[in-house]
Amino acid sequence: MNNFARRLFCTAIIFLSSTLSVLSQELGQGFTKVKDGIYVYASKDGNSTCSVVLTEEGPVIIDACQRPPDTRHLMAAVKKLTDKPVRFLIDTEVHNDHTFGHWVFSPPAVVINAEGAGAAMKKGFDPKRAEALAAESPEMAEAVKGYKMVVPHIEYKNKMTIHLGERTFELLYLKNVHSEADTAVWLPKERVLFSASAANVKSIINLRPFVRISDVLASYKLMKSLNPEIVVPGHGAVTTTKIFDEYEAFYNLLVKRVGEMAAQGKSLDEIKKELKMPEYADWAGQNNLPQNITVAYESVKK
Ligand SMILES: [Zn+2]
Repeated sequence: MNNFARRLFCTAIIFLSSTLSVLSQELGQGFTKVKDGIYVYASKDGNSTCSVVLTEEGPVIIDACQRPPDTRHLMAAVKKLTDKPVRFLIDTEVHNDHTFGHWVFSPPAVVINAEGAGAAMKKGFDPKRAEALAAESPEMAEAVKGYKMVVPHIEYKNKMTIHLGERTFELLYLKNVHSEADTAVWLPKERVLFSASAANVKSIINLRPFVRISDVLASYKLMKSLNPEIVVPGHGAVTTTKIFDEYEAFYNLLVKRVGEMAAQGKSLDEIKKELKMPEYADWAGQNNLPQNITVAYESVKK
């Protein structure tokens, strides 16, 4: 290669790599491209994830983001990616940090979650929330404009399959794992799994009293049996099935310790005071440990 050819070659490489980095950053900070046409967004670590899956027949949204400015941000990204209207919005759970932003997409999007989602959203509805958010900052006030509660239009039982364009979405009901209605979304062809909030990334989860650890462990088994290549948790960075192994180990150890202490005749209050999980000291959500102990105690009592 002579000097001129070498210089031309180098210029071409520099041009190519800068173009690629522009492409990967086209949607801005917080976006992760998981596969062609599949993007996950979280404005910061620990926030709920919200995603867009493009299809020939229009985009599908999975979860409506942590807070309204995040929802607006995702919607702006969707508009950059396609001019087709959003077809479906699938919820992986019922809580506000996944569902409050429905109205930004719907109409026209049809909102879907498992049976009981709408009732749970209505029960948890806080009529002052939109107003309180708007008072936070001018940016928030702008983002929350036009808010109204939208509950799922479609509620399914156990399993639902959506065929849209070239893609297939399998919605799998996860019983008693986090909220009153939890859905894992499985894309079998792409081998991408949206795993709801049954497991987060290194965080002790806020376990509601109706959560059953046996059901949580069963959900990990089910999701692992799909053999996904990529796992998108309800909160935290895009990962693999190792997230289920980590949580399985955490709950197994917790249940073992609670069981041993209960067998020694200790009361729930005593166990809550004494039980430590030093192996998990680096996990977020340490304040959730006492109610994790309560839920674990329920499972060893029987
Ligand atoms: Zn939640």
